[in-house]
Amino acid sequence: KKWVYTFGDGAAEGRASDIATLGGKGAHLAEMASLGLPVPPGLTIISEACARYHQGGRCLPEDLKLQVTSGISGMEAITGCKFGSGSQPLLLSVRSGARASMPGMMDTVLNLGLNDETVQALAQNSGDARFAWDSYRRFIQMYADVVMGLDHEIFEEILEDEKGRLGHEYDTEISASEWQHIVSLYKGLIEEELGDPFPQDTQVQLWGAIGAVFASWMNPRAVTYRHLHNIPGDWGTAVNVQAMVFGNLGSSSATGVAFTRNPSTGEKELYGEFLVNAQGEDVVAGIRTPQSITEEARIASGSDKPSMEKLMPEAFSEFISICGQLETHYRDMQDMEFTIERGKLWMLQTRSGKRTTRAAMKIAVDLVEEGLITTDEAICRIEPSSLDQLLHPTIDPSIERPIIGSGLPASPGAASGEIVFTSEEAVSAKAEGRRVILVRMETSPEDIHGMHAAEGILTTRGGMTSHAAVVARGMGIPCVSGAGSMRVDIRSGVLVGMGCMLKKGDIITIDGSSGRVMRGEVPMTQPALSGDFGKLMKWADSTRRMKVRTNADTPADARAARSFGAEGIGLCRTEHMFFEGDRIQVMREMILAEHEEGRRAALDQLLPMQRQDFTKLFSIMHGLPVTIRLLDPPLHEFLPKTDGEIVEVAAAMGMSQTLFRHRLDALHEFNPMLGHRGCRLAISYPEIAEMQARAIFEAAVEAARQTGSPVVPEIMVPLVGLRSELDYVRAVIDRVAAAVAEETGVTLEYLTGTMIELPRAALRAHVIAEAAEFFSFGTNDLTQTTFGISRDDAARFIETYQRKGIIERDPFISLDFDGVGELIRIAADRGRQTRPELKLGICGEHGGDPASINFCEDAGLDYVSCSPFRVPIARLSAAQATL
Ligand code: PEP
Ligand code: MG
Repeated sequence: KKWVYTFGDGAAEGRASDIATLGGKGAHLAEMASLGLPVPPGLTIISEACARYHQGGRCLPEDLKLQVTSGISGMEAITGCKFGSGSQPLLLSVRSGARASMPGMMDTVLNLGLNDETVQALAQNSGDARFAWDSYRRFIQMYADVVMGLDHEIFEEILEDEKGRLGHEYDTEISASEWQHIVSLYKGLIEEELGDPFPQDTQVQLWGAIGAVFASWMNPRAVTYRHLHNIPGDWGTAVNVQAMVFGNLGSSSATGVAFTRNPSTGEKELYGEFLVNAQGEDVVAGIRTPQSITEEARIASGSDKPSMEKLMPEAFSEFISICGQLETHYRDMQDMEFTIERGKLWMLQTRSGKRTTRAAMKIAVDLVEEGLITTDEAICRIEPSSLDQLLHPTIDPSIERPIIGSGLPASPGAASGEIVFTSEEAVSAKAEGRRVILVRMETSPEDIHGMHAAEGILTTRGGMTSHAAVVARGMGIPCVSGAGSMRVDIRSGVLVGMGCMLKKGDIITIDGSSGRVMRGEVPMTQPALSGDFGKLMKWADSTRRMKVRTNADTPADARAARSFGAEGIGLCRTEHMFFEGDRIQVMREMILAEHEEGRRAALDQLLPMQRQDFTKLFSIMHGLPVTIRLLDPPLHEFLPKTDGEIVEVAAAMGMSQTLFRHRLDALHEFNPMLGHRGCRLAISYPEIAEMQARAIFEAAVEAARQTGSPVVPEIMVPLVGLRSELDYVRAVIDRVAAAVAEETGVTLEYLTGTMIELPRAALRAHVIAEAAEFFSFGTNDLTQTTFGISRDDAARFIETYQRKGIIERDPFISLDFDGVGELIRIAADRGRQTRPELKLGICGEHGGDPASINFCEDAGLDYVSCSPFRVPIARLSAAQATL
């Protein structure tokens, strides 16, 4: 079995397309090597070995060991160095690299191969004893942490103590012999803590590190990350063993990370940071403040530290040309790691860079305009659900607010919330429904759950590529990082900003687009959806087959949805209109009336209100289709619940409390969702349907007169199971239509249809379609009735089901293709058999879920309908579904 793929010296056994086997890092190292780019030689152990390691009781196959040994011999041949001995020791980096990027979640060991002997050789060979001993202590510290399980902090303490004793402020002031002493203290500490010395055998070191990287696949933070990002646990991680190159070999050495375009805005400009005389971990850890790569960026940031362009012009220009080469090759924005060793540039990683949605939009549109990708590819490059990020509120620029600090604009959007200082507090506050801003000196992968629970993140240390910044951008959460003028004191629970001291629980607002931090809650505005967004959406619109409508109950919803590009209303839940203002009172009178006469009196009052609502909706939609659903929920939803409310309503209605309570009891249902609701109401009380139909028709006449465009209302009957139910309600609607036509002298055009929300309706669709001009799949109820799981109680156990692997996805969020989906297909096919022109749509929550939309395309629906804010997501998903 081939476990190991080698690369280096202009050749490689793997390719970029081998991501599943080699992991992202390994596959792209191989690709870069075969492109002839300067990549230190190395080998990749395939991810299947990781799966084996975990299945096989943490053992590794014998042939793997032989293949690694032979791979290392190849590295020795290329570098002229020897692993574990000799005058020129070969040092290795051992890094994880899974199929999907999991930044910072798994472990890494650098400078491997140093021991008491090789450190001397390295000192000799490099001519820099200080570097050799510094590398050795880095190695011990990292190895002890990752492989031997000792906390990194205890080494930092020794280092701090020593610095104090020697009177040094910075690590850079520590001399070779002082590092040597620190190494002996480190080794002493390990032996004391573990009873075993630090391993001198470099083979033991190597296999210890490889095992630790495999083991780190299962560490809790990696498991959480996979859970959040739907990454299967059985993929495993590959391991990359590569010859070390040193960014810490003096002032002509450096290490850095860069993006070929700005990952925040998408602007075509090299974007990155580097540190002179440092190793890779120092950049990501955010301990030292990095320097700009380009001179332009340095000037823009106002930094007085020289840029890489100025400091290392040759390496800089080679780097720029590699950036261009990689972008053209991969046809996408790249995120790269590099090291410069004594002036010589080495590429350590490249991958498609994570970016904000705004940047993703801009980059996709720019790449089309640069001729690198097609519009179809551009459409597929945007994750539909990420469009949510664009709809994030921003701070109203006209509002003046006291700024209490500022940092880097690390992830766009603004957020307000209570200050919390730990991830645990963030999680528990979120569970209580409170909105929080997580405030930290810096974040680490241990904070993932807290970051996920927060509305926004503020750190006082770290750059644009610090952990907080990268993760927040990925999650679409606003983040301000490196707010150096602010100070967090976790122990006393305070955040100190310019001239103020805030405690846990105080409200702050952060603006991840400008980097500002403000006290209190600040008014926000919605972003304009034009420019790149507009272009991309236009491409999506001309690609998709399905229409996208919206679920809108109010004029405000309808207006918002229009601005997001909705092409009609797929569901207006009329009941929501009855909760507005004092209408609920009239509604209650209607419900509680004992006889038809009383109901009619109340309905007469409701009629003009409904008519007015519908007139507004029709005018806003200006001739686009509008589907209005007749009253659906069980009536008691409108009734008073608390004693106080009961007393008040009874008094207002002039009913005795006893009589009132008696009526309430009579309306009580054991299982209201399966009770007196939907078309059953219209059958018991046809006068309700009559009033609603009248309001709809009169409004249609009025709106057509106002706007000059004809209105063809679509009236939808909910919760039909029998054709005879639909026949009955339809007759009521037709009768009212005839009456309104007669009264107004206008010929009315309208459609009558039904929702498919019950398995019986799906199965009898061919018969129901005889009486229906359209079907709209109410997949909320259809999921509830197909599974027999109450949609209102599901949340309590669905999560457990997911955790225990009983079901993969919550069927109320993402359509159950196998069961509910099958019913949809059956209903669509049977319905169209009877009525080929039958219009088919979906208006359950699933109408805004990308995977479900993909299903709808496949099932041949005509449109999806979703909440206004999901309309852009649906437009893009519907386009992707056709590609
Ligand atoms: C549905 O059941 O999917 C639906 C859209 O109706 P409601 O959610 O109002 O029951
Ligand atoms: Mg329903």
